[in-house]
Amino acid sequence: VDALVLPAGPDLLYFTGYEAMPLERPTLFALTPGRAALLLVPELEVPRVGQLPEGVELEGWAETQDPLNVIARWLGSPSRVAIGDQAWASVLLGLQARLPRARFGPASPITRDLRMRKDAQEVACLRRAAQAADRVMAGLARRAFAGKRERDLAREVAELIVEEGHDVAAFAIVAAGENGASPHHEPGDREVREGDTVVVDLGGRRDRYFSDTTRCFSVGPPDPEYRRLYGILRQAHEAAVALARPGVRADAVDRAARAAIEAAGLGRFFVHRTGHGIGLEAHEHPYIVEGNDLLLETGMTFSVEPGIYLPGRFGMRLEDIVVVTGDGAQLLNGSPREIVEVG
Ligand code: ZN
Ligand code: ZN
Ligand code: ZN
Repeated sequence: VDALVLPAGPDLLYFTGYEAMPLERPTLFALTPGRAALLLVPELEVPRVGQLPEGVELEGWAETQDPLNVIARWLGSPSRVAIGDQAWASVLLGLQARLPRARFGPASPITRDLRMRKDAQEVACLRRAAQAADRVMAGLARRAFAGKRERDLAREVAELIVEEGHDVAAFAIVAAGENGASPHHEPGDREVREGDTVVVDLGGRRDRYFSDTTRCFSVGPPDPEYRRLYGILRQAHEAAVALARPGVRADAVDRAARAAIEAAGLGRFFVHRTGHGIGLEAHEHPYIVEGNDLLLETGMTFSVEPGIYLPGRFGMRLEDIVVVTGDGAQLLNGSPREIVEVG
């Protein structure tokens, strides 16, 4: 391509280290071969921009200026422009109107290749985030669940996420009893009772990298049926982790987890992909999903999170982050993987 244009978001953060405000005043990054890159930000946000990498020029646009005109002039007359997937339609439509001869395509084929392969420093950030998430799980194991509403527990989880070393809490799913069968349940007024199982999926951000982990809690001993299915879930998790290594297709890892659950006749209750990449975004490439023929490489990081969801009854998910190394997948999370019994 002749030009790469990125809006506020994780690609921009990756290239410049600058976390732009994703508001209606556009922040735009433009890169063309053989020239310095341009970071164009609203003038009032210039003071937020810290140290930029060498070769990136900073320019502020005034309230009365049209930032798309500035970018279009800077780009000249490109024939092929790659634009960040998360650019607002208004930005893309505005640039198309100003550059009628340019053909636009998505930037993700370029940016995801770079972002998927984490360097040692990025893996270290993800490991520290995962360890902070492990401490949240350990803290939760010491708390009482019975008598609290899902939303109260979710608030406690969010507080723990920050107390245990994240900069911000990103999400806290707390799904009690039958609500556990909804993988992305929104915590509500359902009170946790003796005998309930509770799915807790939590994540936060630390030094710009995300954590994401899920454990199942049981108020008192879990019933034998839950325990039996949980054994199958663990086999699925273990099979996926054992298979992941450089050169293995992403969808083979999905199939390994799915095979264990299908063998027990529960395939239709595992309603989502096995995992997603994680880094500057909580969900990013590579996706561990049927049909993804991407070959895993050293430095790729993703979740392994098989689940079994029985509508109207209960659900379960076991989620850890792994990094692909020459010796296979290494787990970044270290929390015990058994059902956690709480009061
Ligand atoms: Zn999810
Ligand atoms: Zn999760
Ligand atoms: Zn996840």
